[in-house]
Amino acid sequence: TPESHPVRAEAVVDLAAIRHNVSTLRARAGGAQLMTVVKADGYGHGMVPVARAAREAGADWIGAAVLEEALGLRAAGDTGPIFCWLTTPGEPLADAVEAGIDLSASAPWEIDELAAAGQDRPARVHLKIDTGMSRGGAVPEEWPALIRAAVRAQAAGRIEIKGIWSHLASSDEPKSPVNETQLATFTEAIEVAESFGIEAEFKHLANSGATLALPETHFNLVRPGVATYGLSPFGHALPSAELGLIPAMTLKARLAMVKRVPAGAGVSYGLTWTAPRPSTLGLIPLGYGDGLPRHASNGGPVQAGGRRRTIVGRICMDQSVLNLEDDEAAAGDEVVLFGPGTAGEPTADDWAEVAGTINYEIVTRLGARIPRRYV
Ligand code: PLP
Repeated sequence: TPESHPVRAEAVVDLAAIRHNVSTLRARAGGAQLMTVVKADGYGHGMVPVARAAREAGADWIGAAVLEEALGLRAAGDTGPIFCWLTTPGEPLADAVEAGIDLSASAPWEIDELAAAGQDRPARVHLKIDTGMSRGGAVPEEWPALIRAAVRAQAAGRIEIKGIWSHLASSDEPKSPVNETQLATFTEAIEVAESFGIEAEFKHLANSGATLALPETHFNLVRPGVATYGLSPFGHALPSAELGLIPAMTLKARLAMVKRVPAGAGVSYGLTWTAPRPSTLGLIPLGYGDGLPRHASNGGPVQAGGRRRTIVGRICMDQSVLNLEDDEAAAGDEVVLFGPGTAGEPTADDWAEVAGTINYEIVTRLGARIPRRYV
């Protein structure tokens, strides 16, 4: 087993934290049902273990972006409601319909595809409305055609219209007027659908930011992703702890070697950092091939020996160099790249700030080369 020898690095995922966050989100959702979003391998945490923990903590739905994810959940034994919203022409929709996965349609041709896909049962369909983000979904001029196609296919017994939904562009800024505009457009789309006789059982709009800060967007189903993992959708502006969330992932590595270099030694590709004085350097066996952001070169924060230290020089594909200054350290010592932050270690938000990105990307891009360990 991987546990039988010391590992190079590992992402430790605290499933109790996931369950805590799911319960917290359930409470914040009020009476609405909760869909836990586990796309992109559970934001890097592991899709199947996260989905199981979420179901245990009361998630009514599991949300997946793409079909492989949704079918993978079924293959792993998840029999509950699953919504999958991103399909591409020619994909095996029939498998998804047979597997009882709820699917999304933005256009009449997608309704036709879904209507044709069901063999023994009608496709369960959620109509996607573009309320202003200009990603998926039908824009207002397209609503009547989409709705008519859906009504026809439902009357023919080929689909069941289960939901109507949209996605918010700016819920990370709860005070942005964009939220109000999108909500108004969504409400209008629901009314138009009703005027065509559609009473969709589920209406959903809210991601994490909206689940936590915009109760008026909850309708009867919310779809938080990032908050499930204990990360704040608002970044440093409103940290996890203030939201009652517990970051679930801790990324650790063991130093592959430790060396002392003289003043003037250049470090890593391009020698972009030069030791200002004799320095102890630790070699972290992780790089951008593992998903560390190369933009965090010369600045990525790491906890070593209880102290905050910094990656110096460029992050390489497999390796990074840590400036241990004058610390006592030895090959094999454990360092922490990020975690909940409660023991002084950096957080995913700290890494995001250095790399010029968001906490979502820090955890999601961690590669399959890093073993996940569940506690
Ligand atoms: N719903 C949809 C359609 C999404 O694409 C996402 C992720 O971006 C979510 C919900 C969850 O978003 P968040 O992680 O911001 O809660």
